[in-house]
Amino acid sequence: MKHKGALLTRKNLMENDHYQELFRDAFGAEFREDLPVDVYFSPGRVNIIGEHIDYNGGMVLPAALDIGIYGIAQKRSDATLQIKSNIFSSMGVLMMDGPDLEYRKEDGWVNYVKGMTKYLMDEDRQIQPMNILFVSNLPDGAGLSSSATLEILTGFMLLYENEGMNLDRVALAQTAKKMENEYIGVNCGIMDQFAVAMGRENHAVLLDTSVLSHSYIPFVLQNYSLVIAHTNKKRELNESKYNERARECQEALAILQKNIKMDNLVEAFPEQIEEFISDPILRKRALHVSRENERVIETVKYMTEGDILSVGRMLTQSHESLKNLYEVSGFELDVMVEESLQHEGCIGARMTGAGFGGCAIALVENYLVDDFMEKVSGEYEKKTGLTPHLFVARIDDGTRKLEFSQK
Ligand code: ADP
Ligand code: MG
Repeated sequence: MKHKGALLTRKNLMENDHYQELFRDAFGAEFREDLPVDVYFSPGRVNIIGEHIDYNGGMVLPAALDIGIYGIAQKRSDATLQIKSNIFSSMGVLMMDGPDLEYRKEDGWVNYVKGMTKYLMDEDRQIQPMNILFVSNLPDGAGLSSSATLEILTGFMLLYENEGMNLDRVALAQTAKKMENEYIGVNCGIMDQFAVAMGRENHAVLLDTSVLSHSYIPFVLQNYSLVIAHTNKKRELNESKYNERARECQEALAILQKNIKMDNLVEAFPEQIEEFISDPILRKRALHVSRENERVIETVKYMTEGDILSVGRMLTQSHESLKNLYEVSGFELDVMVEESLQHEGCIGARMTGAGFGGCAIALVENYLVDDFMEKVSGEYEKKTGLTPHLFVARIDDGTRKLEFSQK
């Protein structure tokens, strides 16, 4: 589906109460003059490095973006949730108990909202009924984790009225991950939900997924910028491939555990993998996981030391591994990365997110960013026939209610 939210900015959403107008258009007679319209924002996230290892107990380094999904809402006094989205025509009217909250494939995006509502209610949390219009400037299915953005936004909005500042963001991320695993059926790790809920402006989140501890790493790239390049190649077979990789990792771990004591696949050293895993596919998957975890640790060291050239090298190595060992890249992502690396201003590039389409990232020298975007876009389009979208990443805070001073 064409992305209708691409031109939306926070400024034009908030200016002249434009958000109120959008809400009124969407909800018509349901709009209440006497009640305030609240605006919440939930960021997309970009993963700098540490790909496909958050479900293997690895270290990951995502950061929240300044693009994401807005939730524009008015409270209701009955037990109903009514939801609409600017990028999907279908809408949902949910009674907050009973069969309305069951998963139905044909309900599409509404399932994420139903799932969050159901899971929070199962935790006996007090939920605020409301009408919500979701307005997004985050491409969906692009590896910038729009699903987690929507999940955390939904949970945050439903709970904020009753829990406010006491809302436990880490617990919310855990609930959302559980919901995506069990209810949606994607065996993702917790990185996306954690990054969206816990992001911090101008910082990357270093998350150890084995114990769920985290720290913030200043996102300082000196003379370089992080460019996000959306291939506009829709991911295909994404969920089944994702689950296939998760299963392969479990098999590799089970083989290793017969020989070595370990809890997570990232603990295996490459030599142990070579020694104990004979299946060539499982061996490749495990090698990626083991080395990618090392690369995250090294990347953080280089970032902290200000050695941006080495950070770039880590990104490129990560891509090679995702392409050859983990096999989750694809023609379009490879072209994007190769064309990026061809440019004189680029010191490292890789696919980001689940793969099979979606986005790549590149570290590019500031004064060459415009030239980079123009040339890489042109070459990419020539080779793939697809028009990409390139932009500079800005790192923002996690999910929040927007106060009007934050216009
Ligand atoms: P990713 O998380 O990489 O963006 P997913 O396939 O996991 O990709 O999630 C994309 C899905 O999330 C969409 O198909 C849709 O169901 C839902 N979604 C994303 N953005 C929105 C939005 N603005 N409004 C409604 N649903 C959305
Ligand atoms: Mg997702």
